[in-house]
Amino acid sequence: MFGFIKNSLSKTADAIKSVVPKKKLTFSKDEIEDILLEADVEYELIEKILNETYQEKITRDILRSKLLATLAYTSYKEPEFTAPFVELIVGVNGAGKTTTISKLALKYKNEGKKVILGAGDTFRAAAIEQLTLWAKKIGVSIVASAQGHDSSAVAYDTIDSAKSKNFDNVIIDTAGRLHTQTNLANELKKIKRICDKAHPSSPHRTILVLDGTQGNSAISQAKAFNEMIGVDGIIITKLDGTAKGGSVFSIAYALELPILFVGTGEKSEDFIPFDKYEFVDTLLD
Ligand code: GDP
Repeated sequence: MFGFIKNSLSKTADAIKSVVPKKKLTFSKDEIEDILLEADVEYELIEKILNETYQEKITRDILRSKLLATLAYTSYKEPEFTAPFVELIVGVNGAGKTTTISKLALKYKNEGKKVILGAGDTFRAAAIEQLTLWAKKIGVSIVASAQGHDSSAVAYDTIDSAKSKNFDNVIIDTAGRLHTQTNLANELKKIKRICDKAHPSSPHRTILVLDGTQGNSAISQAKAFNEMIGVDGIIITKLDGTAKGGSVFSIAYALELPILFVGTGEKSEDFIPFDKYEFVDTLLD
């Protein structure tokens, strides 16, 4: 596990190591500022960390605990639910939603669960095709309709099918065209309402997928989605390809939301639960 996160964060870790000599044990505030900026931590958060620190020399341990404190919201408690467990996956196009759904589905399947996907991004034919291919590849069921059909009807049918066939997990894809924000907000709200109608108290978890290579610009996207429908947790993708891993701190801190998993590659297996201790240690050790 540790190796996975280490490899996937190697670009961010390299960026940090270029400013943090390995054997150095204490840092001045200016040095800390450089380190965190290099990892793409947002300036406002860096200032907060530094303002709270009274010592002139900051040790690695203090820096470690400060970084961990910004990830205080990363623990997540699963809600009480009656099966099937229904998850709604939201995020802008290209963030890695479809790939992430396949990763989550494979994880559940490997735990012995019966999984069904709902191809709720009915706006893009490619999204329906892509998700159908993933379902086939990893061997899980899917409910898909033609492009242009009502996405909430797909959500309803998926949950209905899951209930009648005793599935454990329902994962519903959604559209991600943030440029038509009002339409998207209405569509997502409707899907949420219909989920509750099909299976009271669902969706049990709404997950926002964010592209880790976007660094801090993902924060405004995340805020938009959170305001639109309310998000319970985040999955950050493509951390393998970026030196901007430090934005994880800013995202978790700005949104006060837990980071549930991180995507570490393009395959369905490239997916790990987010562990804040491992994450911080990988960056600093
Ligand atoms: P969607 O439009 O949000 O559904 O995005 P896709 O799932 O189609 O992903 C967009 C691109 O990002 C594809 O080329 C994926 O292979 C790639 N991708 C998704 N997740 C990851 C990841 O964790 N790491 C890397 N390197 N690529 C990823």
